[in-house]
Amino acid sequence: EPAQPKFKRIVLKLSGEALRNTENGDPIDGDILQTVCAEVKKVHKLGVQIGLVVGGGNIFRGQLGAEHRNVDRTTGDTMGMLATTINGLALMDCLEKNGVPVRVQTAIPMDKVAEPFILRRAVRHMEKGRVVIFVAGTGNPYFSTDTTAALRASEIHADVIMKATKVDGVYDKDPMKYDDAVKYEELSFGEALGKRLKIMDATAFSLCMDNHVNILVFNMHEPDSILNAVMGNKVGTLVHE
Ligand code: UDP
Repeated sequence: EPAQPKFKRIVLKLSGEALRNTENGDPIDGDILQTVCAEVKKVHKLGVQIGLVVGGGNIFRGQLGAEHRNVDRTTGDTMGMLATTINGLALMDCLEKNGVPVRVQTAIPMDKVAEPFILRRAVRHMEKGRVVIFVAGTGNPYFSTDTTAALRASEIHADVIMKATKVDGVYDKDPMKYDDAVKYEELSFGEALGKRLKIMDATAFSLCMDNHVNILVFNMHEPDSILNAVMGNKVGTLVHE
């Protein structure tokens, strides 16, 4: 018998920056989009139910808008949530071109663009093998898409949040700055708090902790990383109860 995936239902959190071409600054790069979707497809093929939460930081962040562009925080946050919708539509299109069925659900109703977020409908889509992309964050200012991932994962009872980052896990200090940074294979929520490790923003982190949603921090740029993680192979850092 072929090995069974360890996780049956996941929330994959992709930051908006993950879609950016760092060389030419293009906020949504076609090749990167395709690479991401190909990785998602590998996991979808195994029958894993996938909820995708995408950020918008490659296009707009509310706080930066407030600081540098004289845009009110709440207006900026709405702009940020619309940015996640733009990214979500790009992912939808690319996944469909790869033969993966998708539905987009938005926390801010825009009925020509996407379905509204309806929990039971989202779960039904997943049970039917459709990837559900959750866009427009939580629909509220002052929240992040990490919080959105924590919220949606709690609501759909996901086995884990898989948080794609630029590094392959959680380190005791910034591995981009320090050569002797040490990676944790796993951590409890309590340890992460005690060591003041920043896994997600505080709102997102406490939502995960309170609702018993484990977080796997991993590097999306490593080929097969989502697949390996879903199969239970050692990938990234697992933050658990
Ligand atoms: N945002 C928001 N409410 C939410 C989720 C997101 O107001 O529930 C806004 C916020 O301004 C944020 C922006 O959308 O800066 C983009 O999301 P985020 O910064 O989390 O994106 P990422 O860093 O993952 O690309």
